[in-house]
Order: sequence, then structure tokens, then C-alpha cells
Amino acid sequence: MTTPTTTCPVWPGLCDDADPLHRDHANHQLSGQKMGWPVSVGFVELSDRKPLLYIDAGLASDFDPKDAPKVAAQLRAAAEAIEKMQHRVTEVQAARG
Ligand SMILES: [Zn+2]
Repeated sequence: MTTPTTTCPVWPGLCDDADPLHRDHANHQLSGQKMGWPVSVGFVELSDRKPLLYIDAGLASDFDPKDAPKVAAQLRAAAEAIEKMQHRVTEVQAARG
């Protein structure tokens, strides 16, 4: 997973909003379209509510059975990305004490 380059002081390493006054935190850079994955995953925290991770499966997508290893690898990469974001949420929360 590419770590967001971020200057966000609230969610460093997660939020990629560069506006210094932003209050809604998000990372939408792991979109399926950008990553070549059949799903999009990301991080969002709106107006100081609870941090959330999301997965967007979008539309159903069928594929040739011979492509299953490739699609499965993409899904694994997306799954690893959400686990890394979860780990980072825990790290940031722990650093806040
Ligand atoms: Zn932020």
C-alpha cells in the first residue's frame, strides 16, 4: 500500500487532505480505479466522529475463471490495505494517549 503523503496533524499517515483547516478527514487514494482493484478501500472521519474504514465494491464484475488468481491477488492487496489502515488508526490513537 502506498502511504498517503500527508500533513494532516489529526490522522497522520491516513488522511491525505492538504487543506490546513479541514475537519473532515479522508483518504480516497486507494480507489479501485487507481489501484486496478475490483474494490475501493479507504479511511474517513467526518466532523470529529468515529474513524471509519470503508470498502466499496461498486458494480458486479464478472471475469474469466483463468483470471481468478489475478483478481484474488487484487482482493488480497485491498484486504491488506484495510488491515494496514486499521493498524495505523490504532497507532495514531495510542500516540494521543
Ligand atoms: Zn485530516
